[in-house]
Amino acid sequence: MNNCKICNSKADKSGSHIIPHFLLKRIDSEHKGRDKEMGFVISEKNPSSYFGRATNVETLEKIYGEVDEDRIGSNSIPLIEDFIFCSRCEAELATLENNYSTSISKNDQPIGINYSSGIDSEQALLFWISIFFRLSISKNSGVSLIPEDEDVLRKILNDYFSKKQITSDFEKIKYKLMRAQNVPEKASTLLHMNPESQNPYLLVLDEFIVYLSLNIDVENKDFYGFKLPVEEAEENSNFPTDEKILAITTDTLLKLNGHFHAKAAESYRINLFYECDQIFQKMNFGNYMPNDMKEEIFKLLASDETVSFGDKFSIKHRAEIIVKVLQEYLKKQPPRDGLK
Ligand SMILES: [Zn+2]
Repeated sequence: MNNCKICNSKADKSGSHIIPHFLLKRIDSEHKGRDKEMGFVISEKNPSSYFGRATNVETLEKIYGEVDEDRIGSNSIPLIEDFIFCSRCEAELATLENNYSTSISKNDQPIGINYSSGIDSEQALLFWISIFFRLSISKNSGVSLIPEDEDVLRKILNDYFSKKQITSDFEKIKYKLMRAQNVPEKASTLLHMNPESQNPYLLVLDEFIVYLSLNIDVENKDFYGFKLPVEEAEENSNFPTDEKILAITTDTLLKLNGHFHAKAAESYRINLFYECDQIFQKMNFGNYMPNDMKEEIFKLLASDETVSFGDKFSIKHRAEIIVKVLQEYLKKQPPRDGLK
């Protein structure tokens, strides 16, 4: 049996949630009565995505990806994992979550104002530490904190869970929280931790955006080129006050999500181009496929209206497009020596 990732005793608990369900209300489509939700992960090398049950095709079409019917149909949300925690740590996490979930209905606040979530700062800080820690240890989140930082968070949780004490490390953690107000029920939102930034670590989770720092104050940083009103947000740390949240517009959140989509498409392109070079090398045509060929392949994949959506980005279809473009290329080449 594995050991608990927090306290190192036997990890006897199955079905641990990486993200508490109350925060995945739009993303996790197992939630009753919703039908258009989607969560995303981009790891540094390979973008991957998971999709809700009837995720709408229009949204998917804007994205790209390893999208196939199986994946959409299976509705597998890889954010529940077995045997990563012991029962005690799992129960402690649940207590943090239950406490924090009482703040969730406060989502109709005046824009630009830092409002109180009503959650005591120590409890709120522990809650967000637990979220970043769980994302970092998850096999499926696609991103990790740097190991030293992950261990700082682990120790804080372990000391609190085992002794109800907070360690000196606790003082090192600061975060700023923004929350989009009145996000429509049907809006498609994201779960994504930006792998490009440490200190602060950047997380978008449904209508929440979190900037978390260790050792230093929370600095502003673009989120995939998008500037958020981070300076306006009050910094949270272990002060004897309630947690403060900056109310932002839904429009700001959706713009950030748009920047994510552009980044995801770019990431797909990079992987596709790498694959094109590999094929080119295997066929002994040279080390790199010419750029205009790669661009043409990408364009054909993204704009092909003749195949059903589910097939558009399938591996088979991708191979067909690559072969087609390669054949055109070969026709234009002068005959090689010894060939007539
Ligand atoms: Zn444990």
